[in-house]
Amino acid sequence: MLNFDYKNPTKILFGKGQIAALAKEIPVQAKVLMLYGGGSIKTNGVYEQVKNALKDFEVVEFGGIPANPEYDILMEALAIIKKENITYLLAVGGGSVIDGTKFLSSAALYTGEEPWDILTKPIRTEKGMPFGTVLTLPATGSEMNSGAVITRRSTQQKLGMGGPGLFPIFSVLDPQVINSIPDRQIANGITDAFTHVLEQYMTYPAKALLQDRIAESIMQTLIEIAPVILKDKSNYEAASDFMWSCTMALNGLIQKGVPTDWSVHAIGHELTALYDIDHARTLAIIAPSLYRYKFNTKKEKLAQYAERIWNIQTGSVEEKAMQAIEKTEAFFHSLNIKTKLSEYTDDYKKCAGFAAERLKSRGWIALGERKDITPDDVFKIVEMSY
Ligand code: NAP
Ligand code: FE
Repeated sequence: MLNFDYKNPTKILFGKGQIAALAKEIPVQAKVLMLYGGGSIKTNGVYEQVKNALKDFEVVEFGGIPANPEYDILMEALAIIKKENITYLLAVGGGSVIDGTKFLSSAALYTGEEPWDILTKPIRTEKGMPFGTVLTLPATGSEMNSGAVITRRSTQQKLGMGGPGLFPIFSVLDPQVINSIPDRQIANGITDAFTHVLEQYMTYPAKALLQDRIAESIMQTLIEIAPVILKDKSNYEAASDFMWSCTMALNGLIQKGVPTDWSVHAIGHELTALYDIDHARTLAIIAPSLYRYKFNTKKEKLAQYAERIWNIQTGSVEEKAMQAIEKTEAFFHSLNIKTKLSEYTDDYKKCAGFAAERLKSRGWIALGERKDITPDDVFKIVEMSY
């Protein structure tokens, strides 16, 4: 196992009816900005529950944060924070609303001229405006981590930010919110969380037995609950396992003591920025090609994954590893997620060049756990995904 420091300060309020309990987590004198997305919370009862819980607070609202939170819209919210002297933020939504709120948490205390610099330089956020979250869509783990990804459509950029100041103070996880999520977003959530685990697992054996087994248990749980939750979203036990698996997949725990990859996400973000493909779907497009392309350096871990997750016990390391990639693709297909770029856009032939060029221009010339994925490799990986 590699050396590590680990601190995760986010308090989790998990379970039925926990939205009502959020008020006790917010300082009584706080002036709260409640942030949400396109309106799903207004039709599924979450809005009323949150407003009810906040009835003793002074609350200002900001709705309309879109999927892939948009910088220009967030800047409107930042103006409200300043004008209204807001002191506390409450994100009510999925990863997009939570990530947007993290940007605002950082930007609210930022003293530079142009908050976009937080993403381009990038500037690590040591201290942000305090915020909590009410998670409505299990997927990203953003409710218990300190990272965020922000989009700027005018320049087709999608960039990450983070820092120890960006952990939510608390997050409410009530699995009953899953009832109203469309199948497409449930499938996205499972795929995103599953790939988060893969990015922290599919590297090389690091002799971190416990870390491997925690990662494997999250993947096994996601595979087991996927058909159950897609059939019946009101199945509370499956919804609970789904929600907690997504949080555990990216709250920092399983990445400790092991090498991590993250090249699938780095390339996937370019596909969203260029073609607006859902985040999770870009991962399902890139991961199989990337594992085939990096087969020689990842085959031992792929074979372990084959044995332990897909119960493939016969064959050589190479045969097991190859079957594991096929099983992973079949899993995404079982969720109705397509894994070829050409199934999403007719414009795909330019993508390999664009993605490679964009990563290169940002100086991202050495991706992956071995820092050996160059822009030329990115070109070939994207081309393999056509
Ligand atoms: P999302 O973009 O937050 O939400 C997708 C859609 O689901 C929205 O249209 C939203 O509608 C709807 N929705 C959410 N909860 C719902 C509910 N309970 N019932 C019905 N509809 C609901 O999706 P996401 O996958 O959670 O977040 C994706 C973003 O997170 C991407 O930008 C990605 O890059 C980022 N991400 C961040 C991290 C991280 O660690 N910070 C990790 C991975 C990905 P409304 O807008 O109407 O609410
Ligand atoms: Fe992700």
